[in-house]
Amino acid sequence: MAYFRPPGWVKRIFPEFIWSFPEETDSVFLTFDDGPIPEITPWVLDQLDFYGAKATFFCLGKNVEMHPEVFQMIKDRGHSVGNHSYSHIKGWGTDSLDYVHDIDLAESLITTNLFRPPYGRIKPSQVHVLKERYKFILWDVLSRDYSWTLSGKGCAKNVLNVVRPGSIIVFHDSKKAEKNLRYALPIVLEGLKAKGYKMKDIRL
Ligand SMILES: [Zn+2]
Repeated sequence: MAYFRPPGWVKRIFPEFIWSFPEETDSVFLTFDDGPIPEITPWVLDQLDFYGAKATFFCLGKNVEMHPEVFQMIKDRGHSVGNHSYSHIKGWGTDSLDYVHDIDLAESLITTNLFRPPYGRIKPSQVHVLKERYKFILWDVLSRDYSWTLSGKGCAKNVLNVVRPGSIIVFHDSKKAEKNLRYALPIVLEGLKAKGYKMKDIRL
């Protein structure tokens, strides 16, 4: 499922979630989850520079801690960063205090007002605590770059077929997604440019 339309009940329970931006724009919003890591993130930054694109990196605190120089590189090159928890913690099935503690730990390393829950799954009680501090950024276009059954070509197609003005697109700067990402990202950037989109980072 590449084009993620949240069911109505999800939108009602979580009115503060942002799935996309209004269509009256010439921009799309690329996001990269689960980094930063030295094997892939610098390569992503080079691709973005080549196409004059900006993006938002939803970082894991544990990776920022291990690779502060890569995290700094993201900011120095003009991209925005978001909190994606410290340890990629699952909201469902995790005590809310433990969950918020994990987000706080990431916050001490990242400093941002943007948050994306790992797996897109979070309990209302957790949203309640975090909504004073964060804008919750979800997505409407999932590249599925992490899928082992999808080819890089399929991944690029997924994105380019369904993207529309205001879309929030998800990729992963992770080892799991590396093969598909390295194939698909240049094609997607080229395709978005050809469609006339500006590629911007999210700053709210
Ligand atoms: Zn993630």
